[in-house]
Amino acid sequence: MEDLVLYNTLSRQKEKFQPYHPSLVGLYVCGPTVYSDVHLGNCRTFVSFDLIYRYLVYIGYKVRYVRNITDAGHLEGDRDEGDDKFAKKAKLEQLEPMEIVQKYSLGFHQVMALFNTLPPSIEPTATGHICEQIEMTQKIIDQGYAYEKSGTVYFDVEKYSKENNYGKLSNRNLDDLLTNTRELSGQDEKKGRLDFALWIKAKPETLMKWPSPWGWGFPGWHIECSAMSSKYLGEQFDIHGGGMDLIATHHSNELAQSIACNHKEPVKYWMHTNMLTVNGTRMSKTAGNGFLPEELFTGKHPLLTRGYAPMVVRFFMLQTHYRSTLDFSNEAMAASEKGYIRLMSAYALLDKLKTSSKTSFDFQAFRRSCYEAMNDDFNSPVLIARLFDGVRLINSINDAGNETISAADLDEFKKLYNGFLFDVLGLKPELPSSESGALANELMDAVLAIRKEVRAKKDFATSDLIRDELKKVNIVIKDTKEGATWEKA
Ligand code: AMP
Ligand code: ZN
Repeated sequence: MEDLVLYNTLSRQKEKFQPYHPSLVGLYVCGPTVYSDVHLGNCRTFVSFDLIYRYLVYIGYKVRYVRNITDAGHLEGDRDEGDDKFAKKAKLEQLEPMEIVQKYSLGFHQVMALFNTLPPSIEPTATGHICEQIEMTQKIIDQGYAYEKSGTVYFDVEKYSKENNYGKLSNRNLDDLLTNTRELSGQDEKKGRLDFALWIKAKPETLMKWPSPWGWGFPGWHIECSAMSSKYLGEQFDIHGGGMDLIATHHSNELAQSIACNHKEPVKYWMHTNMLTVNGTRMSKTAGNGFLPEELFTGKHPLLTRGYAPMVVRFFMLQTHYRSTLDFSNEAMAASEKGYIRLMSAYALLDKLKTSSKTSFDFQAFRRSCYEAMNDDFNSPVLIARLFDGVRLINSINDAGNETISAADLDEFKKLYNGFLFDVLGLKPELPSSESGALANELMDAVLAIRKEVRAKKDFATSDLIRDELKKVNIVIKDTKEGATWEKA
């Protein structure tokens, strides 16, 4: 537990992980905005934090994992411009905004279950925490860091910046930020270009609105996460996460709000996942390259040559470190499927291995190398490489090659694989979809038909060659009175 090191966006370096309480961890992750289906890029972020959550639990921490649902208050622009995402979608689909929320929350949960991600301990919604957001907004006004203009409350970035570094999370100075933000227009009520809304006045046509000290309105997107994280994890908690695209605005604003309200650094470690890209372009709804998990599972999308099982997709994601970009391609998916099958086939062999009086390799060093990978900022690709080292060992023991294992070490080996494959990486001990299972059956029927033919011609050398080659991929042929059958070893 004491060896875990993680990368903190705030300090821009790896730090030893020391939570506020020695055995408890508070983890907050920004959840989805439920106005449309989650795309594969969103899923990458949630799978990454699922890995982080799982490993923290695995090494003995009691983790309170809070992941919110944004079901109100997210305007189209991150800096409070444009239409309300929910209202716009509701109009488009001719549904109540809350029907939109229900529909896409359900879809999100279904997709998360397919990827075998664990549910968070608490999943708070923005609409369920309006009072807390109003209270926090009021507190920030009282501290002098926010002001009201005709029913909308803005955070005063200039005032805050006099005593604090607003750009410290994104590592940008105020001048840079100002240059990159558009000028105030004549109609703007904000005092400063970087000011953002904590509370937004409802228009006559706004459907989702609540009464507040400033009239009818709805909360801004950023205040939601500050209010809900402090409610469930306290004013100071251990880890706050989200995708890297959230650093510059959403998380910088959250950080400023919390400091302005409580005068304390709210988060010890800020963790950010890198983006899923397609041919080098970030996957997003607007880029039009945002295919849905369902499309990847079925292969029904112009960019895809065929479908892949959810566990193969999860494995594909985990083969890249969470802080590196992950570029999607059909070739990379096919390679991951191959690797996944190899890993799971070797795992299936563990129950069949013959033991010896001695283990030929240093099992403890092998075990340590798995922990070292994950203790180094949750490095799942290195862990997977170590597990593949194990595959070579398993296959060698199985083929009565150079390696041997004792009964006691085999027991530990199984525990290690069960722990890392299923508890930590969150994979399932299953081979890809029934579709590829059906294909395997068809292929094996064809192979056995050819073998029958060559045996009829008394060509036993070719018949044996077929049997031996299949054995290499762990397929065993048995000749019975009814004909030949096959099974995975
Ligand atoms: P949203 O529903 O847009 O609020 O996004 C939910 C989460 O998905 C956020 O943490 C985003 O940072 C993350 N996200 C969005 N696009 C991508 C992408 N292409 N790759 C990885 N994460 C992403
Ligand atoms: Zn958030």
